[in-house]
Amino acid sequence: MTLARTGRLDAFGTTIFAEMSALAVATGSVNLGQGFPDTDGPAEVLESAVAAIRDGRGNQYPPGPGIPELRQAVADHQRHWYGMEFDADAEVLVTVGATEAIAAALLGLTEPGDEVVVFEPYYDSYAACIALAGVQHRSVTLRPDAGRWSFDPDELAAAITSRTRLILLNTPHNPTGTVFTRAELQVVADLAVEHDLIVVTDEVYEHLIFDGEHIPLATIAGMADRTVTISSAGKTFSVTGWKVGWVCARPRLLHRIRQVKQFLTYVGSGPFQYAVVTGLQLPRQYFADIADRLRSQRDLLVDGLAGLGYDVLRPQATYFATVDLGRDAEAWCRALPVQAGVVAIPSKVFYDSDIDRYARFAFCKRPDVLAEALLRLEKVAR
Ligand code: PMP
Ligand code: GLN
Repeated sequence: MTLARTGRLDAFGTTIFAEMSALAVATGSVNLGQGFPDTDGPAEVLESAVAAIRDGRGNQYPPGPGIPELRQAVADHQRHWYGMEFDADAEVLVTVGATEAIAAALLGLTEPGDEVVVFEPYYDSYAACIALAGVQHRSVTLRPDAGRWSFDPDELAAAITSRTRLILLNTPHNPTGTVFTRAELQVVADLAVEHDLIVVTDEVYEHLIFDGEHIPLATIAGMADRTVTISSAGKTFSVTGWKVGWVCARPRLLHRIRQVKQFLTYVGSGPFQYAVVTGLQLPRQYFADIADRLRSQRDLLVDGLAGLGYDVLRPQATYFATVDLGRDAEAWCRALPVQAGVVAIPSKVFYDSDIDRYARFAFCKRPDVLAEALLRLEKVAR
């Protein structure tokens, strides 16, 4: 049998998260690489999943677009938190995590020959899904500026060509922890309107905010009809293994995404869809509490790293902090598990540009685990 000389994903290898988590296990390291919490989500949400399985809800294929209760809960969530209106039947689609939503949006909304604009550093599935869709991407670099990461509006304008079809935006942003401001979103919105572009927004960290306010791009004037809003339950409810995500968009866009999604997985996560309804209906206090807990974990890690002499920015959101090592961060991260028993992610993998100075540490770990990592880091050279 002959294989095509180059496969679409040949350049991608194994995802860094699988690689570094396997290395953490093999070396007995504290894993501050892959972003997943080491504590369970709220008991009522977990119990709701158990009850759904016991009661036979979701054990067989759920409806293609997602169970009606979850689509309604997502629509209610968007109205309650942001004043956005979505019709639960025509404008909400449940997916297998945000990952599937992103893949289906890219596959459904682009054609070969199109271009997609992304901000680097970017979550690793973006470039891979863009390649799967057979399209090209151009990246605009986020750079540290006055304590947070931002972009140059001229660079964004220059990245848009006559072939550009969509912009893929992640706010709050992994790995930098930046929350895009209204002014930054307005720059994106103005360009999207001027060039008639779709914007796909990945908002999975929408509730993990410490400083600043999450503004969905779709709430900016003129953007509701051209924005695809994506989020998921994994981060908000500390259930990254459940893979329940969703897409909200006007019917003409959602239709294209649903067309792809039905042949990727058709459906997924049946009983967990019921449990996420419980999660989305939790009182506001739950959402404040998880952000508070993560804020103190952020401060523990960031203060600890700064105390060890690292150049580290305090992220506004998410569960990641970036240290600037100046150079050779990838080699440093690869040596770290053996040298110190700690795993971090080399941010180089999130860039198209040749930028190898940053390492990303996750702080969604118990305080004693973060303290142990800091203790271990005392013995390494920076
Ligand atoms: N987008 C970003 C920016 C992420 O960090 C993650 C983390 N897993 C995802 C998407 C994927 O979300 P999910 O686990 O819901 O597929
Ligand atoms: N979103 C998480 C991170 O950035 C995990 C991603 C994954 O394992 N695919 O670390």
